[in-house]
Amino acid sequence: MAKATWLAGVDVGGTTIKLAIFTEEGDFVKKWEVPTDTRDSGHNIPKDIAQTLHETLQLMDADFSFLKGIGVGAPGFIEVETGFIYHAVNIGWKNYPLKERLEKETSVPVFADNDANLAAAGEMWKGAGNGAQNMLCVTLGTGVGGGIISEGLVVHGAYGMAGEIGHITSVPEGGTPCNCGKTGCLETVSSATGIVRLAMEKIQTQKEGALYSLFNEKGTLTSKDVFDAAQQHDTIALDVVHEAMYQLGLAIGNLANSLNPNVIVIGGGVSRAGEYLLKALHPHFNRFALPKIAEETTLRIANLGNDAGVIGAAWLVKQNSMRR
Ligand code: ZN
Repeated sequence: MAKATWLAGVDVGGTTIKLAIFTEEGDFVKKWEVPTDTRDSGHNIPKDIAQTLHETLQLMDADFSFLKGIGVGAPGFIEVETGFIYHAVNIGWKNYPLKERLEKETSVPVFADNDANLAAAGEMWKGAGNGAQNMLCVTLGTGVGGGIISEGLVVHGAYGMAGEIGHITSVPEGGTPCNCGKTGCLETVSSATGIVRLAMEKIQTQKEGALYSLFNEKGTLTSKDVFDAAQQHDTIALDVVHEAMYQLGLAIGNLANSLNPNVIVIGGGVSRAGEYLLKALHPHFNRFALPKIAEETTLRIANLGNDAGVIGAAWLVKQNSMRR
């Protein structure tokens, strides 16, 4: 039997499952993806993962015995010790024993965690975190995902709910309803969706400028349109970027005061605004963080893109196999 040295990383999303095989050092051996079969409450997914892993290993003259473990990230609430998924809305899993099912299919140890936590771990290990042992990762996409790394480990809290940075309350009274059931969460303001919503609100009343014209032309807007227009000094866009970055700076400033990270990594689609985003965010962060913390903390754009999840999943295997 071959010595099990490879790490498998799997990132289960609502439309695709991303997979990769890594060396123990975290270098890619192979990377691919398959569609997510959400029929039948996602019941076929462990079989599909086992099948595609098996086929890919075979192409490399290998088999499951080459794998040290399989790390899996999924969106939703996960009990990390047991790999039990309470609820993963986009996938269909509810009270689903993911670890147990996938171990049965592969006979390889399986470790699971929330996808935002694993994206943070990925950025820590191989990305913008650059090995930082204390790190926050905020993913600005359709929603706002968060992961907290403290002293080299993902923080889970009592029920695995830690790191839900997107649901920090930014607008205590009269805020917009959030998917979580509350109102005024950071996610309703600083996500791609939140940024577009703020822009649409302003366009209804101000009806002028480049962003307004673009909306009339396209009938729709993206967060990229807003950032692009802000860089061209459009008044509405500048206001929206200011509001989104003010709320993000307030949230991460407060978090930094509690957690004292070395690095705060900003990822997700909105982070493609890059240096411009950091420039807009910095003054707010500096205002709300303690002076010493503002001075010492580095704000950085994520650099692993869509690979962060599978890399973090491989890190999870490495982490667990070192512990055993
Ligand atoms: Zn919320």
